[in-house]
Amino acid sequence: MDAASRQAAQPPAVATGVTPFDVTRVRAEFPILATSVHGKPLVYLDNAATTQKPRAVIDATSRYYETFNANVHRGVHTLSQRATDEFEAAREAARRFLNAADTREIVFTRGTTEGINLVAQSYAREFLQAGDEILIGTAEHHANIVPWQMLARQRGTILKVVPIDERGDLDMAAFERLLSSRTKLVAIGHVSNALGTVNPVARIVALAHAAGAKVLIDGAQSVAHAAVDVRALDCDFFAFSGHKLFGPTGIGVLYAKAALLEAMPPWQGGGDMIKTVSFEHTEFNDIPYKFEAGTPDIAGAIGLKAAFDWLAGLDFAGAIAHEHVLLERTTAALHAFPGLRAIGTARDKAAVLSFVIDGLHPQDLGVLLDSQGVAIRTGHHCAMPVMQHYGLSGTARASFAFYNTFEDVDRFVAALGRARDILM
Ligand code: PLP
Repeated sequence: MDAASRQAAQPPAVATGVTPFDVTRVRAEFPILATSVHGKPLVYLDNAATTQKPRAVIDATSRYYETFNANVHRGVHTLSQRATDEFEAAREAARRFLNAADTREIVFTRGTTEGINLVAQSYAREFLQAGDEILIGTAEHHANIVPWQMLARQRGTILKVVPIDERGDLDMAAFERLLSSRTKLVAIGHVSNALGTVNPVARIVALAHAAGAKVLIDGAQSVAHAAVDVRALDCDFFAFSGHKLFGPTGIGVLYAKAALLEAMPPWQGGGDMIKTVSFEHTEFNDIPYKFEAGTPDIAGAIGLKAAFDWLAGLDFAGAIAHEHVLLERTTAALHAFPGLRAIGTARDKAAVLSFVIDGLHPQDLGVLLDSQGVAIRTGHHCAMPVMQHYGLSGTARASFAFYNTFEDVDRFVAALGRARDILM
């Protein structure tokens, strides 16, 4: 991470090898971490796919359904007003979490995927012309590739891909070469889900803005691992999913600068996104409601607020430092593992470890680890182009959250050893 990104994303405190973070106390707040799988205590290392939920999030969601379930924005009755208040309080919590200037800049979505599609189908479809270029990286998730390909078919825009090097670092020299006055949008992952690479997003934003391009950051994998400040980053769009941040599935946030949202047309029509409707004319609602057609995921937003609140009470710097130590410990153990090749060894990495082992199919590994209670992910991780870059069809991936322990690491490595003994 370059100096500007570091400042904007407030990354881990320096890891010392000893972690004062009270992981036992934190784990106790996640009921699922006490469960067993195949008779073995669960070791959950699939956090890049989705994170587990603390009791506070589960309770907040149930409390809504049990005590004030009602639709938002349209009711005068008490339950509807309470639901509306809590839903809007979630918007304010999201604003605070991202340090956005205004709640009008917070659009609730189903998740990162929907946020990126919204930008493609509203902002880019309206303002980009045939021949305009969109830059993405090689290691993007399909959610940050396919919407731009769909747009290219609709508008004749051109998708350009910034290469990565062998370690999985974005080739910034190539990025600067590809960036030109034709570039209208840079859409870049903050952290790669397949490789763990942390991209220098602050530098990317500065360079893109100097070239006159807008920047969308796919924050799906960064929000749980670094505090994000959209104003310090100065990005134009930032999308993330609640379920990767210890919140519920089905809810996410798209941050966009207010002036852009004001200028953008709605992308879905329906209830709540209008002020008045007649057969002759429809007047759209103000931002952000213009982009929230239909009944939103109310329980999801309330659960997400509980996740923000819960995180606000956590020693986040300690949590991130702990995660970093887990990454170092696992990286060292895997380095010593016979026949194992790490895929993605970027200089700045989040706690994601992709690997292949000579002679072993990742899927077989995943199944055998599961039989020992260890949950990892195998396959292409919705990032097929990066697999193609390494000449692989898939990898095994262990991804950590701050509630993982040294014991999790040791059980994971021991399970890998047993799997190799069985399979080879
Ligand atoms: N972007 C990245 C980097 C991801 O890792 C993911 C999910 O794994 C997504 C986008 C899509 O997130 P969601 O499926 O929650 O919309």
